[in-house]
Amino acid sequence: MNDNINLVPPRLRDDCFAMPQGVSWIPVDTALSRLRAALHPLAGVEKQPLSQALGRVLAADAIAMRSNPPQPNSAVDGYGFARAATGEGVCTLPLVSGRAAAGLPFAGAVPPGMAVRILTGAALPEGVDTVVLEEDCAIGPGAIAFDGPVRPGANTRRAGEDVTQGALALPAGHRMRAPDLALLAALGLTDLSLFRVLRVGILSTGDEIVSANAAPHQIYDANRPMLLGLVQGWGYHAVDLGHVRDDAGLIREHLDAAAQSVDVVLTSGGASAGDEDHVSRLLREEGTLSAWRIAMKPGRPLALALWHGVPVLGLPGNPVAALVCALIFGRPALSMLAGAGWPEPTAFTLAAGFSKRKKAGRREYLRARQGSDGRAEVFASEGSGRISGLSWATGLVELADDAAEISPGDPVRFLPYSGFGL
Ligand code: AMP
Ligand code: MG
Repeated sequence: MNDNINLVPPRLRDDCFAMPQGVSWIPVDTALSRLRAALHPLAGVEKQPLSQALGRVLAADAIAMRSNPPQPNSAVDGYGFARAATGEGVCTLPLVSGRAAAGLPFAGAVPPGMAVRILTGAALPEGVDTVVLEEDCAIGPGAIAFDGPVRPGANTRRAGEDVTQGALALPAGHRMRAPDLALLAALGLTDLSLFRVLRVGILSTGDEIVSANAAPHQIYDANRPMLLGLVQGWGYHAVDLGHVRDDAGLIREHLDAAAQSVDVVLTSGGASAGDEDHVSRLLREEGTLSAWRIAMKPGRPLALALWHGVPVLGLPGNPVAALVCALIFGRPALSMLAGAGWPEPTAFTLAAGFSKRKKAGRREYLRARQGSDGRAEVFASEGSGRISGLSWATGLVELADDAAEISPGDPVRFLPYSGFGL
């Protein structure tokens, strides 16, 4: 007799993202706040010259060593004088000989009732508190004339009017951009205390994944170049840990080696609870695993574990889910580890250029871009294997957990790729 004769199948549910009964699904925001609470800066601190600071994270507050500007100076090319010695109507002032130029200060004082030629950026000589534009002057041999009155301090910059010495220029945790280099250079900071660059290992898993010469039943590794690219773009050392087959022993070896050489590991694939989901099984058995079932689409499974003390973030294998999870969870997690705090994604509201029904109770991220009519268009297919949609998109539309029906024209939240730093 056939033992299997009485097997009763469940009713078919044509939705692989349906939430299984009896399992608790945590909302995205809960997962994010748990992640945030679990992580703290990992990278050590080093001193580096300002020239090495682009893209790096300040480990200490940057305090102005000097004021900007350091001295009162002229904002224009013109003539400087003491304003108290001028009045209403035409003022004619004899010129002292010599001039004040940027980097070449006027030696001596300008007596009241006299003027000095002064150029943009020149320190105001003693006796000068006001400058009149050269275009506003009649210039004769040895004297100038202008139409008074002039405002006290006109066309000058006060010492420290931008930043005063001792002020907080940039706080610890700030990631240095080119304009920040200008600021700190101007304020006389030459060496900075920076967090070391976070080393992020990227590991792909799956028996079907190959790097070259794929047989028909094999596929190329799409996640690794993507994740390496993301991590590099975020300013970290991306460490290629290669690909490993679905073999617990091999995965263990790779993680052991990684734990010696990187600060954090991102894996993709094998993160759910299937037969071949060796990453989550291994982490559960031998690491400290929090497997999270997150009420979101795409990308339900997300594993957070410690392997010999090194955080491992297990991303789903589907490239679409892997990207969404990397942007929504991976980016802020790495930022915390790198000392740069918790970044919120940039978001703005667009009118939906699509209609959609969704399950209330889970958040959805759709591959999207802003159409020529300004509306948010979404990619034709939501299939999470459709890698072309990732490349087609310029961002994600985020549909709120409780949203159920979206009609054309409804406001939706658009998260541009650029706001995720890509
Ligand atoms: P998994 O999470 O391992 O069950 O993988 C889910 C799906 O993503 C499967 O169809 C895998 O073949 C695919 N996949 C996993 N890893 C990768 C990868 N590195 N590049 C492309 N597809 C992948
Ligand atoms: Mg797999």
